[in-house]
Parts: sequence; C-alpha cells; structure tokens
Amino acid sequence: MNDADRAQAEIERFSQLSIAQLRQRPAPKANGLCLYCQARVANGVLFCDSDCRDDFERLARRKARA
Ligand SMILES: [Zn+2]
Repeated sequence: MNDADRAQAEIERFSQLSIAQLRQRPAPKANGLCLYCQARVANGVLFCDSDCRDDFERLARRKARA
C-alpha cells in the first residue's frame, strides 16, 4: 500500500462516517422502544424490524418535505 492508497482509504473511511452521521442525525436516540410502533427492542436498536424503519423513514421524509 502506497501513500496514495492510504489517502484514498482515509477519504473513503471519512466519507462513509459522515454519511452514517448524516443519516443518523434526524433520528432520536434509542431508548429501548421501537421509534415507530413503540414495541420493546434491544438496547441501542431503534426499530423492531426493517418495516418499521422504512415506515418511520417515509414519515420523516414526508414531514421534511411538508
Ligand atoms: Zn416497530
């Protein structure tokens, strides 16, 4: 691995990090309940399944547009 490769890897890691942070920003903190249906979920988990996550994101997007 040369310096250019290392720089490229660094850039990729950084941009992935900021994309993840951007995605997370509008979501409230995990509190042990699904953000969409309020079902109990594991610690640090925001949604009980991908359907709830998708529905929540759809709602959030609709709110953001309104
Ligand atoms: Zn749910």
